[in-house]
Amino acid sequence: SQRVFDPLRQLAEKFTTVQAGLTAIERIHDLLSEPIEIHDPDRTFLRLPQIENTAPAVEFRDVWLAYKDDDYVLKQLSFQIHAGEKVAIVGPTGAGKSSIIRLLCRLYEPTRGEVLIGGRNVRDFTQAELRQHIGVILQESFLFSGDVKGNIALGDNYTLAEIQRVAAEMNIAEFIEQLPQGYDTALRQRGTNLSAGQRQLLAFARVAIRNPEILVLDEATANLDVGTEALIQEALNRLLVNRTAMIIAHRLATIRHVDRIFVLKRGQLVEQGSHSELLARNGVYAHLYRLQALTKDVAPQQDA
Ligand code: ADP
Repeated sequence: SQRVFDPLRQLAEKFTTVQAGLTAIERIHDLLSEPIEIHDPDRTFLRLPQIENTAPAVEFRDVWLAYKDDDYVLKQLSFQIHAGEKVAIVGPTGAGKSSIIRLLCRLYEPTRGEVLIGGRNVRDFTQAELRQHIGVILQESFLFSGDVKGNIALGDNYTLAEIQRVAAEMNIAEFIEQLPQGYDTALRQRGTNLSAGQRQLLAFARVAIRNPEILVLDEATANLDVGTEALIQEALNRLLVNRTAMIIAHRLATIRHVDRIFVLKRGQLVEQGSHSELLARNGVYAHLYRLQALTKDVAPQQDA
């Protein structure tokens, strides 16, 4: 879907959108050992990048990444993901899955090569703009000690009706309405008065309201509370409709139905295809899959 930028709205919301983006970014930053410096593009004129409908939603062109010296953790990585396509990235710990996501969200710059969304280099976007195009859902989302509606709107100007609509879509409205003050109920620090599943649904609502074209999901390693699992799956399916998704998958059982699976090994894309194609190939994926089937949903944390 083509998103037309309104420069004034953009400017007015810049600060708050940056804040919204921070919730996801700071979690990823937690994983990083060194602080990084990413500069927004210099815009002498208001030349706001447009997303092209015909271009791939996500493209990596011969991307290499070394965090230090010549120690490449991503090598010669090229792929295109089409609008609406759901792609899962699998591979052993340390293979480079998170690094791909960091490059997509421009938390790091590739050492070589280009990362594009909608045909535009991610460097052409400000961080605030990128956050409007890419919604990030991590295993544990950051909730702050404000009220429920504030935790969804994150300082942006959404009406209560809009908040209620996404809450209903994301299967969390009924729960919120049961709270003493409904949408005005204060959440405890880090949302400790919610279950893990409810926090997840709230994180979905937070992303849904921003309506990004691209979703990045770090799939939960363990089952959340059984009570909300069906609700989460249903909400997630709704969130995925008409969006491009990149899913970092830990439990192979949950990604059988994605359009394509990327198998990453030591920073290289060694296999790609659907679940059945990759099983038939009897390579790295088939091996990982059989391994997990044996250990029944326990993510293999073997080294690359
Ligand atoms: P995965 O998500 O598949 O587990 P990562 O992308 O997190 O893999 O990591 C790929 C490799 O890059 C690993 O060897 C990891 O130790 C290394 N790495 C990740 N982040 C950093 C960093 N900030 N500085 C240096 N090395 C890093």
